[in-house]
Amino acid sequence: MEDILHIPKGSLLYRGQILAAEVSESLRKPSVTPCADILHINYYVHGPKEPVREIIMKWLKKEARHILYERTAYFASLKGLKYGRIAIKDQSSRWGSCSSLSNINYNWRIIMAPDTVLDYLVIHELTHLIHMNHSADFWHEVESMDPCYIQHRQWLRDKGKLLFQLFPKAR
Ligand SMILES: [Zn+2]
Repeated sequence: MEDILHIPKGSLLYRGQILAAEVSESLRKPSVTPCADILHINYYVHGPKEPVREIIMKWLKKEARHILYERTAYFASLKGLKYGRIAIKDQSSRWGSCSSLSNINYNWRIIMAPDTVLDYLVIHELTHLIHMNHSADFWHEVESMDPCYIQHRQWLRDKGKLLFQLFPKAR
């Protein structure tokens, strides 16, 4: 795990890794491409120049949607769980929720956390399909899919706030 408390300016956090944003202009269409520890952002030379921060946030949200859908489907299939809609939200403090109608909400900022922590969140919300509480049975079920859930839960408690500081909720 990198030292996410000291993210240099012009860098971003993606799946627990610090990426440096590199901006270029070309005649190619606008694009955002992760290559190892660099996020290449290309502006179309004659097009509008959206602020880099906005581009990064949109890209992170898109990645969050893609990965959360995929991980939810994966862990649900392991347990034969059926869920309703998945929504990717911009809540100001919550990481996720699961409704009595089996719909699941996730906070897009979880894409900045390590994959194991993202998986913990997915497992946590899916387990609410079985136990609508945080009883001992609930945590036992979480543990069956995530044996290190205590560490992952602690990561969110310790470092989660930082992820909200990096991209505060828009007012
Ligand atoms: Zn819960």
